[in-house]
Amino acid sequence: MEKTLFQKIADKEIPASIVYEDELCVAFRDIAPAAPVHVLLIPRKPIPSIADATAEDAALLAHLMLKVGDIAQAEGIAEGGFRTVLNTGENGGQTVPHLHIHIIGGRSLQWPPG
Ligand code: AMP
Repeated sequence: MEKTLFQKIADKEIPASIVYEDELCVAFRDIAPAAPVHVLLIPRKPIPSIADATAEDAALLAHLMLKVGDIAQAEGIAEGGFRTVLNTGENGGQTVPHLHIHIIGGRSLQWPPG
């Protein structure tokens, strides 16, 4: 199976501004930030979307959720608040078929999204 863009970033085949990485995940700055802070957090495992995750991925997903808080703290947006987004599939606006969590903050965000 061909590697996704985000898998290539995780494997350092494509450059990105990485803000955090460990054995299970990588976080890097979005190339087109929607706010002063816009980080994408991905599992190294190439799960296409949250709809494809299985019970086998439970510990990995918990790890990602805990890292959201750590990254928000490190980016200085935890106190003021921020948004996490998981776009899924065509209607969800997902453009890269590798599960990723958007961590967006640093300004007041509107709701609902378009
Ligand atoms: P989504 O629309 O949820 O699939 O989000 C994909 C995100 O990846 C978008 O916010 C893009 O700006 C971002 N993106 C695309 N290419 C890159 C890249 N090479 N480095 C960092 N972010 C990227």
